[in-house]
Amino acid sequence: MPGAKKRFVIIGGGPGGTSCATHAARLGAEVTLIEKDLIGGAAHLLDCIPSKAMIATGGAMSMMKGAEEMGLAKVDVQLDFDALRDRIVSIEDQLEASVTSLLGSQGVELIEGTGRLTGPNTVVAQPNDESKEPIELEADVIVLSTGSRPRIPDWAPIDGERVLTTRHAYPPPELPQHLIVIGSGVTGVEFVHMFNSFGSEVTLIVSRQQVLPGKDPEVAAALEQSFLDRGVRLFMGARAESIDVNGAEVTVRCDDGRTAVGSHALLAIGSIPNSENLGLDEAGIEHEWGYVTVDHNNRSNVPHIYAAGDLSGKLPLSSVATTQGRKIAQHAMGMHVGPHRHLDYDKAASAIFTDPEIADVGLAEADAFSEGRKIRVTKVPFSVSAKALINNDSRGFVKIVSDPATGVVLGGSIVGRHAAELISVLALAVTAGLTVTDLVESLFVHPALAEVLGEAAE
Ligand SMILES: Cc1cc2nc3c(=O)[nH]c(=O)nc-3n(C[C@H](O)[C@H](O)[C@H](O)COP(=O)(O)OP(=O)(O)OC[C@H]3O[C@@H](n4cnc5c(N)ncnc54)[C@H](O)[C@@H]3O)c2cc1C
Repeated sequence: MPGAKKRFVIIGGGPGGTSCATHAARLGAEVTLIEKDLIGGAAHLLDCIPSKAMIATGGAMSMMKGAEEMGLAKVDVQLDFDALRDRIVSIEDQLEASVTSLLGSQGVELIEGTGRLTGPNTVVAQPNDESKEPIELEADVIVLSTGSRPRIPDWAPIDGERVLTTRHAYPPPELPQHLIVIGSGVTGVEFVHMFNSFGSEVTLIVSRQQVLPGKDPEVAAALEQSFLDRGVRLFMGARAESIDVNGAEVTVRCDDGRTAVGSHALLAIGSIPNSENLGLDEAGIEHEWGYVTVDHNNRSNVPHIYAAGDLSGKLPLSSVATTQGRKIAQHAMGMHVGPHRHLDYDKAASAIFTDPEIADVGLAEADAFSEGRKIRVTKVPFSVSAKALINNDSRGFVKIVSDPATGVVLGGSIVGRHAAELISVLALAVTAGLTVTDLVESLFVHPALAEVLGEAAE
């Protein structure tokens, strides 16, 4: 019918689904979003936001413990677990309300229920209120953004009390006296930092010879040293293979014969996609290990069915899910189809909210060497910064990787306070193809930590 609105049905209300919904609606589509749990998805309610809220509380505690060094009288700081729980619930409620209101203001129809494909153009939504009949929906465009959940191996007796996944930890039932964290990727090390700052004893089981596998070894070494300085026990090169719970005691056994005994264990060993019972096969969608196979436009082999966020098997970050959602809306509505608009995952900035904070973007020094690529690497410590002295925190450094022939900024790593904010400057430089000279000639604020970026670019 000429002039008819395009009908979008989106399954999953995390950052991928909600970003797609609002953009598609703004572009004139008729949009229905199906979410079975809470609007905002795991990102807002189970993963990124509550973890960062708890880390911020731990950071405030650490700052107060260092009050004397800032010229203040000594302060006695205690964690109030109930107040912390209330704070997290309040942040989650505010975020859920703001996303729900944004969707409403764009005219997105919301169905509280579980969605499933029944064919290439049809979706059925089973409302959470089971007394209601399933709703059959027809769509011109279908977007799948059902996210992922923690991977649980069969040797881990997860009970949500003593043996936890990330989903039980915001906050956990009680403050662990001694937490054993299994897995030293981004999530694992953030938990180590968080609970260590709350005063728990922490042991980290690291399956390789460095924490943060795949990250710049110098960056990983800085974090390992900070953990050791803070009394964290590191089991390097050890794989956990069993967990036993005996009353209040949890024992984790590793493949090299070592055992760690604590009060709680937390598994952070990756995630799996939420795609079973989604009807991928009924709609003829290709998938691998449960992740939907997508092209540069996040389109599956069925041209009007897209996948966003963790389900697309690309880069599992909330920021990436949001951008994919927007780009899908634009592509499906006929905009921005040129290759220059494709998402370049190699240029995505990411951060690890430990202490010191870690962030990186683009080409890493170690990857350039292993690819035999010629690069120029410059590194400046924060100890040269007046602002770092003012902050009473001179730890860390800025490292910039550039092309020696052209000066174009190819990547960078930052270890230190506010690294997650500062990396945005390098992310912009990498995305826009700026040169080190552009950074050197920028007039940064003084005194500010960003000045170190200019110095590292020289
Ligand atoms: C501990 C932790 C910390 C993290 N911290 C960060 C961070 O600091 N920064 C960052 O960028 N990323 C972070 N991430 C990653 C981030 O959480 C994910 O990449 C992001 O949530 C992916 O968004 P999504 O839209 O794909 O899925 P989700 O946020 O998982 O949302 C999917 C939604 O789909 C719903 N759903 C599933 N199946 C159905 C169905 N059949 N019908 C209806 N609804 C359904 C779910 O209920 C859920 O609400 C973190 C992850 C973890 C585990």
